[in-house]
Amino acid sequence: MTAATTTSRTQDFIDADERWSANNYHPLPVVIADAEGAWVTDVDGNRYLDFLAGYSALNFGHRHPALVEAATAQLGRVTLTSRAFHHDQFGAFCRELAELTGTEMVLPMNSGAEAVETAIKVARKWAYRVKGVPDDAAQIVVAGSNFHGRTTTIVSFSDDEDARADYGPYTPGFVTVPYGDAAALAAAVTDRTAAVLLEPIQGEAGVNVPPPGYLAEVRRICDARGALFVADEIQSGLARTGTLLALEHEGVRADLTTLGKALGGGILPVSAVVGSRDVLGVLRPGEHGSTFGGNPLACAVGRAVIRLLATGEFQLRSAELGAHLHARLGELIGKGVSAVRGRGLWAGVDIADGGLTGRQAAEAFAARGVLCKETHGATLRLAPPLVISEADLDRGIDAVADVVSRG
Ligand SMILES: *Cc1c(COP(=O)(O)O)cnc(C)c1O
Repeated sequence: MTAATTTSRTQDFIDADERWSANNYHPLPVVIADAEGAWVTDVDGNRYLDFLAGYSALNFGHRHPALVEAATAQLGRVTLTSRAFHHDQFGAFCRELAELTGTEMVLPMNSGAEAVETAIKVARKWAYRVKGVPDDAAQIVVAGSNFHGRTTTIVSFSDDEDARADYGPYTPGFVTVPYGDAAALAAAVTDRTAAVLLEPIQGEAGVNVPPPGYLAEVRRICDARGALFVADEIQSGLARTGTLLALEHEGVRADLTTLGKALGGGILPVSAVVGSRDVLGVLRPGEHGSTFGGNPLACAVGRAVIRLLATGEFQLRSAELGAHLHARLGELIGKGVSAVRGRGLWAGVDIADGGLTGRQAAEAFAARGVLCKETHGATLRLAPPLVISEADLDRGIDAVADVVSRG
């Protein structure tokens, strides 16, 4: 379906959205009414393959039975206590997430941006209390083209003008270096650096994979200067790239890792910072918190997500289907595609100059029954749910090949 064939029924929903909500998104003209696995159905009964998967929040597809069952069971018991009291899901969730990620401590939050804010606060506190950085002098080194969320502090170190303009005054204390340039990073890390904060693969920027060896070099630079390595795996983590965490591809471990999106199983927002005791242990009661962070419903769903990931099945699917995806996308280079990047079931596809804009391509896919979204300019981000069948994956790739070849 395209805007040109939008039914009056669909248009009524779109009109209501546009009349009553702030205009901070530009959705495709598809109104989803229900969904299962890799498929969604709109209000007119048209079915679409979901090749975006909620920006990787839906790694396990829509309404995965084990996740819906865990949520439903918890809804019948207790959903919110606040952290004023203990509850019977919290400790188990933290232990299981620490064991899954090979870390020592967990701080649960809700949105991804909150997890990143939490990591920034913890890194600064660690810099003052442990590293001995003078008061208010701590710096955090970040990468160009980053995306870490939408809070005032996080947009302060974004170089995306749409995300940043008119939100000043900006939070100081951030130093930006080009992504993938280890020499520039080494030059920017000083005695005052609390942390280096990076995405192991940059999602919003168009699925940017850094040069081989870069992440290991980041680890080495952090160790040499006594700075923390904070990996934002909110989009790259939890099996999306064929491993639990994207840093595993280089055999690297971060001091703090932010997780989100798929941690909530596509059901509710669940995020966390995981890391070592000597870093997360700097927090004391009252120094940070969230009313909903680590609530019983979130922990019950998060535990079911952890059980799925502990089998390794989704990591394997992502690796195997991802190899197929990248082999097929590679064949499109020179046929309407100028470059393809990514790992596992995750790809950034650059449409060749003179072809469709990203938005036009996304609309053309929707007309062929495949939903995805452009990132910047003429780059498409493909991130199908990891539960997708090989036949459905091929169906989606066929649509990509068809759309890009028309230019
Ligand atoms: C989506 C995302 C965030 C922000 O998550 P929200 O839940 O939207 O706040 C942060 N970092 C990365 C890498 C992301 O992809």
